[in-house]
Amino acid sequence: MMLSDYKEIRDMVSKFADSEVGPIAADIDKNGEIPSSLVAKLGENGFLGSYIPEEYGGAGMDYTAYSIIVEEISRACGSTGVLVSAHTSLCVYPILAFGNEDQKKQYLPKLATGEHIGCFCLSEPNAGSDAGSLTTFAEDKGDYYEITGTKNFITNGKEANIAIVFAKTTKTPNHKGISAFIVETDSEGFEVMKLEDKLGIKGSSTAQIALDKVRVPKENLLGTYEKGFRVAMGTLDGGRIGIASQALGIAEAAFRYAKKYSTERIQFGKPLSDLQAIQFMLADMSTKIAASRLLIWEASRLKDEGASYSLASAQAKLFAAESAMWVTTKAIQVCGGNGYTREYPVERYFRDAKITEIYEGTSEVQRIVIAANELKNIQ
Ligand SMILES: Cc1cc2nc3c(=O)[nH]c(=O)nc-3n(C[C@H](O)[C@H](O)[C@H](O)COP(=O)(O)OP(=O)(O)OC[C@H]3O[C@@H](n4cnc5c(N)ncnc54)[C@H](O)[C@@H]3O)c2cc1C
Repeated sequence: MMLSDYKEIRDMVSKFADSEVGPIAADIDKNGEIPSSLVAKLGENGFLGSYIPEEYGGAGMDYTAYSIIVEEISRACGSTGVLVSAHTSLCVYPILAFGNEDQKKQYLPKLATGEHIGCFCLSEPNAGSDAGSLTTFAEDKGDYYEITGTKNFITNGKEANIAIVFAKTTKTPNHKGISAFIVETDSEGFEVMKLEDKLGIKGSSTAQIALDKVRVPKENLLGTYEKGFRVAMGTLDGGRIGIASQALGIAEAAFRYAKKYSTERIQFGKPLSDLQAIQFMLADMSTKIAASRLLIWEASRLKDEGASYSLASAQAKLFAAESAMWVTTKAIQVCGGNGYTREYPVERYFRDAKITEIYEGTSEVQRIVIAANELKNIQ
């Protein structure tokens, strides 16, 4: 795809975000729910199948275009942004990258249109950053597997029709022996146990899921038997670009709001924007946002070119997430007391930004990934 294509995509998504998502973002936050009519519109516009090839019913775009879509939707609503990101990065991508032809033909067309929503079940109550210690078990029953365990904090868990589930097929204390499976959530024994009440991204469902002897056909093993941890880590490498884009969109929204507010609010007989203290905050916000965007584009470009992008995606996520937290904090500062109230959107941006430092690998985990990559390369 070319630069002009990306510009066109940004304009198109931006118009959609401003007309269809932004006006209901405060309600989504307040009601703790993304209306199914909005999910349907995301599907109709191709935003849920952006980089699914056309032969499987998708829009056939690349990862750079996808990151622009997540950024623009998240600028309007962080909850809706992560619905798109988790569905696409964490469910569509592993099927595309590790699935066989039959699995792609069976699952991708409905994920592309949004008729089906996807989720990714890796974390467990006792396996977060140390995901390899998960204990969900898939017992070989001859012509099917029987999966039992508990999955924690599953984004889209309430809406999802298709789940990528990680389970041990051999009981080991570490990541060895993990296999990945495509699980249909209407299977008997697959149950949403609880929905989390959260600080931010309140419209995005975060579910604890119990799997009680869920029967999964043998043909739903995703990728190589007992190489599931590679599926998980390979998926999260790309997913981090999506979360970086979510963070960027939230930061951009906070910056735009603070900038405009500073030109309208009069103190000491002049707009706040005339004060150098305020200008310096705006300058730093602008710079962190620009740097985040460049890191995201670089990681996306490497991924689109088939080059190694694990380091770049961890850097993009780390920097964009910490920048989003910084920018949204300063946006409240620029707006003063008003910024702290629910009448103004900046407190929502601040609450929504925090999660980007936690999921798909905390900032500490990104630093571990970055340091490990750098230390492999001593010159
Ligand atoms: C809203 C939300 C949505 C989520 N969505 C999903 C989802 O869709 N699918 C899914 O599988 N999971 C999901 N998660 C889980 C998420 O990925 C984990 O919460 C995250 O990986 C951190 O794990 P933890 O919460 O168990 O924290 P812990 O691992 O207990 O970490 C606690 C703290 O210790 C630090 N820490 C841990 N180990 C190290 C280390 N070795 N070195 C330095 N510091 C360390 C962490 O950085 C963190 O600051 C979601 C979580 C939330 C809150």
